[in-house]
Amino acid sequence: MAEILPIRLYGDPVLRKKARAVQDFSEIATLAENMVETMFEYGGVGLAAPQVGLLRRLFIAAEYALEEEEAEAEEDEQPRSVLKNLYVMVNPRITYRAGEQVGTEGCLSIPGVYSDDVPRDLQIRVEYQEVNGEPRTLEAEGYLARVIQHELDHLEGVLFLDRIPAELRRPFMEEHRSELAEMQRKAKAFLRELRTEQK
Ligand SMILES: [Zn+2]
Repeated sequence: MAEILPIRLYGDPVLRKKARAVQDFSEIATLAENMVETMFEYGGVGLAAPQVGLLRRLFIAAEYALEEEEAEAEEDEQPRSVLKNLYVMVNPRITYRAGEQVGTEGCLSIPGVYSDDVPRDLQIRVEYQEVNGEPRTLEAEGYLARVIQHELDHLEGVLFLDRIPAELRRPFMEEHRSELAEMQRKAKAFLRELRTEQK
């Protein structure tokens, strides 16, 4: 049975650290299963290992049918109905980038906060390893390319908030100040609890 893992919230220092390359693949399949279960539980389109407190270079990304058209449609549409592909990307690297897109992003570590102004590359090629270590290459564009770039950023300790253009970021952070402060409080409380459990 896969396990639902607690998601680290904005303010948790683990989200700001650089993840280490995966060399030992022996526990990666189990970790990936748990991350998939966790992502579905919280209704995300991607989840990176640092978001569950593990500084390993690994993330999952879900591709849903029709999401590209619907991502551009009204906010009240439900774009996550049909799962088309589920990628587990270990030690991913982007080896080609082209074009630009600006769109909406949120993050399971920053629940309820969305920005419509996140710039990303439109097309990418990503080289990665599967859960068993097999090398793979994927070319992605549009929404999937956005998800992959968002998740890859997590492996560098970068959040979508950091990608909002500087002139928009300040008002955005101001607008969401109390929500973000609340997350920081919860993140600290979680870490205190974790330390108590480990004693
Ligand atoms: Zn995220």
